[in-house]
Amino acid sequence: MTERIYNFSAGPAALPLPVLEQAQKDLISLGDTGIGILEHSHRSKAFLAVYEAAEALCREVAAVPDNYKVLFLQGGASTQFFMVPMNLLSKDQTADYLVTGSWSKKAVKEAKLFGNVNIACSSEDQNFSYIPEEVAFSDNPAYVHFTSNNTIYGTEFASEPAAPGDAPLVCDASSDIFSRPIDISKYGIVYAGAQKNLGPSGVTLVIIRDNLIEQGPSDIPTMLQYRTHSEAGSMFNTPPTFGIYILAQVLQWLKDQGGLEAMQQKNQAKAGKLYDYLEQSKLFNATAAKKDRSLMNVTFVTGDADLDAKFIAQATAAGLDGLKGHRSVGGMRASIYNAFPEAGVDKLIEMMSQFEQEHA
Ligand code: PMP
Repeated sequence: MTERIYNFSAGPAALPLPVLEQAQKDLISLGDTGIGILEHSHRSKAFLAVYEAAEALCREVAAVPDNYKVLFLQGGASTQFFMVPMNLLSKDQTADYLVTGSWSKKAVKEAKLFGNVNIACSSEDQNFSYIPEEVAFSDNPAYVHFTSNNTIYGTEFASEPAAPGDAPLVCDASSDIFSRPIDISKYGIVYAGAQKNLGPSGVTLVIIRDNLIEQGPSDIPTMLQYRTHSEAGSMFNTPPTFGIYILAQVLQWLKDQGGLEAMQQKNQAKAGKLYDYLEQSKLFNATAAKKDRSLMNVTFVTGDADLDAKFIAQATAAGLDGLKGHRSVGGMRASIYNAFPEAGVDKLIEMMSQFEQEHA
């Protein structure tokens, strides 16, 4: 078998090896069914057990209150960019958006198709390198939307903003979901494409409070109503069965690791090492404001694009893949989600120190 290398990809991203090994077996035969996971009907007893495990583990790991539904949808987080306003925003209403990166901007663009948008804050003035402290909410927003972790820019909200009045808080948590404890009761909707912390691309986790499901209009396409998926237990049509299977495996792994608190400690240890190194480095600099640094995506530069390219090439040759930063930031980005091993962070720091000695 080819040796596995350190995969710093921003998503799809590294998954826990035990999960992949189990999946390898279950591809051929799920348990003793004689039928592989990709081949099981979504109505089969075997798949229903997988589905129920995914939902139960999600509820357990994140302590999801009873008045919330856990849905497994398709279309990625990008579909939630329009499904949220389609269900929660009418033409005469305003939704508030905290704009902290290009994913937030994309969400704003979709919301404008359905109603008014108030940009409650934006950090675009400094290329999204920080999380604004001043937030100007509108009088009575239909909801408040924010992106908890900004994958491209390496910034993360330390905690969720407080929405005004009883406005539901809607969170795109695609790149930091379940990387730390989350109090779901503070949210109306939390959604995340699975391909960073939860599993493969193709399944989107949506945790939504019951009253928001009921409140949505019925004169929009059936597949785009939360109600449809809630009533059918995410089985209105064929759900992304393999994605749900992997998600269940990843959540079981997460539970075995000690749950969200233990995961947060591991993530703090991993990112902390890297930021500590960056703090004292004479060559590499972190690009995100110190107070807002992400535990998931660590962005850094040398300040010289040629040197960045040289470092990335050397790292790739040494088995550290996916370190090239997003084109809008340049430099490097180390995506170190839940399943990324600490040894890979150590290896990266070792390489950076060596490179620094040669080039500082
Ligand atoms: N939001 C965030 C924060 C993301 O990082 C991404 C993808 N990288 C998206 C949304 C878009 O997700 P998808 O590709 O699942 O539509």
